[in-house]
Amino acid sequence: MIEFRSVSLEYPVTRTLALDDVHLFVGKGEFVYLVGQSGAGKSSFMNLIIKRHLPTRGEVLVAGEALNRYKGGRTSTLRRRIGMVFQDNLLLPHLSAQDNVAFALRVTGVPRREWATRVGGALRTVGLEHKKHALPVQLSQGEQQRVAIARAIVGDPPLLLADEPTGNLDPDNSREVLKVLQNVNLRGTTVLVATHARDLVETFRHRTLTLRRGKLVRDDPYGGYAL
Ligand code: ADP
Ligand code: ADP
Repeated sequence: MIEFRSVSLEYPVTRTLALDDVHLFVGKGEFVYLVGQSGAGKSSFMNLIIKRHLPTRGEVLVAGEALNRYKGGRTSTLRRRIGMVFQDNLLLPHLSAQDNVAFALRVTGVPRREWATRVGGALRTVGLEHKKHALPVQLSQGEQQRVAIARAIVGDPPLLLADEPTGNLDPDNSREVLKVLQNVNLRGTTVLVATHARDLVETFRHRTLTLRRGKLVRDDPYGGYAL
């Protein structure tokens, strides 16, 4: 699903080497953590996958296609096939949970008659069907993040990227969000989670990639957190 072939990324002007000769293969259906200290290159890694940046050297492939061959409209097609979740859920405050999820379908080719089924299915996957009419303010932080996950998966993306998805959550809500991400993965979606949450990485064990100053220094198939 994701392949990095000798990928380096050097930012212009500051000439910071954010990623240094990274080789990596993530197969379809895997659940993978990406860990590393602040500044280690995690965001740069994610940004290459969504083609916000191009590598200075090497090649990034998503679903078997080299991203430098994606142009214009193809790039937006690529981004539509990747679900994204961030630390801040950015839900629209005046829309109910189900309308927030449905909003994401406006930019997909999914016909309107399928929206209700899709939205219902995505809310069921995150365990919030009973809160579909609630406004974000009526939901806990953890529930809001689960709505954001439903929004990210409603278009049925083969790949879900989560950047510090539990960054603003207490331990109980963090565990709930992790379980939801695992559910999403069990339905076949490849999931990549960039995180600082050591306890989660060590409790819910999955393959763990560790970045240190732009280098991929560990690739541990059974998890473990050692920066
Ligand atoms: P992380 O997400 O692990 O905190 P980043 O990928 O954000 O790491 O940053 C990796 C390195 O690249 C850091 O040294 C950071 O300062 C630098 N960096 C990140 N974004 C930019 C940018 N747009 N321009 C210049 N340097 C950047
Ligand atoms: P089914 O039983 O047909 O799988 P669901 O009611 O569980 O149906 O889901 C209906 C729709 O919800 C799916 O077609 C899909 O669009 C969306 N959906 C639910 N969960 C996920 C998920 N984990 N990943 C992607 N899409 C999902």
